[in-house]
Amino acid sequence: KTPGLLGRIAGLWFAVPLWKRIIAALLAGALVGLVWGPGAVSIKWIGDLFVQLIRMAVIPLVLVTIVSGVAALGDPRRLGSIGVKTLLLYLFTTSIAVGVGLSLGVIAQPGLGADFSAAAPQALNANGSVGLGINDIVPANIFKALADGALLPTIFFALLLGSAILATGEKGRPMAAVFESASEVMLKVVAIIMEFSPFGVFALIATVMGTTGVSVFASIGVLALCVLSGSLIQSFVVHGLVVRLMAWLPVIPFFRGITDAMLVAFSTSSSMATLPVAMRVAEENLGIKPAVVSTALPLGATVSMDGTALYIALLATFAAQAFGVQLSPEQYLLIGVTTVMVAVGTAPVPSASLFMLAGVLTTFGVSPEQTAILVGFILPFDRVLDMIRTVPNNTSDLAVATVVARWENEIDVEIFKSSRDV
Ligand code: ASP
Repeated sequence: KTPGLLGRIAGLWFAVPLWKRIIAALLAGALVGLVWGPGAVSIKWIGDLFVQLIRMAVIPLVLVTIVSGVAALGDPRRLGSIGVKTLLLYLFTTSIAVGVGLSLGVIAQPGLGADFSAAAPQALNANGSVGLGINDIVPANIFKALADGALLPTIFFALLLGSAILATGEKGRPMAAVFESASEVMLKVVAIIMEFSPFGVFALIATVMGTTGVSVFASIGVLALCVLSGSLIQSFVVHGLVVRLMAWLPVIPFFRGITDAMLVAFSTSSSMATLPVAMRVAEENLGIKPAVVSTALPLGATVSMDGTALYIALLATFAAQAFGVQLSPEQYLLIGVTTVMVAVGTAPVPSASLFMLAGVLTTFGVSPEQTAILVGFILPFDRVLDMIRTVPNNTSDLAVATVVARWENEIDVEIFKSSRDV
């Protein structure tokens, strides 16, 4: 029986690989937003719906994939080896990001002549606190942590559960099988949700372009250009080199494989919302095995934020220039170290880093009032800058996961190189 018109349209639609459909949606959304202007907010709900759908998958996905990933390791000691390498590499790439941000800030001087007269001061994160307390990692009640969508406590519990399954041996097997099946099913859930992504991305981009859109570049042009060029350097040069030199793998298939995740990070500006997509492309396109995907990526989504680090470092130089503070080499070093810590503590949600600035700015004597003005000045434009910096936040996780998987022999290089169109 020949398909009807709708069937044929659907056939044509699904014949195009998803990443191409998302790119097309992104371009079309930008165009429609520019033409439509502020009226484009009327389709914002479609974008919100997409973000909601994908965030819905985060916690169950993280829980079941970590448990099954750890249970698949065979030896709990390997978890320590993967964990240490992952964390050290995250620290390494984030430190480079801080260096890129500070250098751009010193060279381009985005803060010279900044005019804060129109800025409405913004309330800040209580004390700009940095670092993570015990309560942020060990849950007193796992169901509450799951219900709150708290990633780190969920990761902690899942790691423990997975290790316990390993330690239980024979009697733990059925439980491992259940979680293994559950993680396959959850990845399928993500695949189904992703079929909606072209529409979500279209609406998200149209809304941004119709409202703040390009005005960002007109109003805070130098800063925006620094964020853009810094993020491009960090993602394509630094993370590209990390894959090339540390995992000895070709760069093109890497970026080809993670395109979906980069586009979702860009349009949602939330690492949390991107996590399910990142886990899917890591496993299916890059051929990284569940043991590394399930541990490195959820951890990376929360602690490794290269784009955020770059942005905070850049804003620190911006503030120093705008408020006329001369920074000494020691102060640059202090800013760098504090920025890495603040980036680790930043929540993986839109605009989070802006409210963490105070912790870094106090190191060179910027008062809370001045910080509040600065945040108020940037906030109206932050959405676009957030979209840009959220991309390196995610490429760093995927690059590091690739390296760790290669070192641990947990990657199928054939799949990685094949650039399959999924
Ligand atoms: N939006 C960023 C993220 O979710 C965090 C930030 O820099 O504000 O990764």
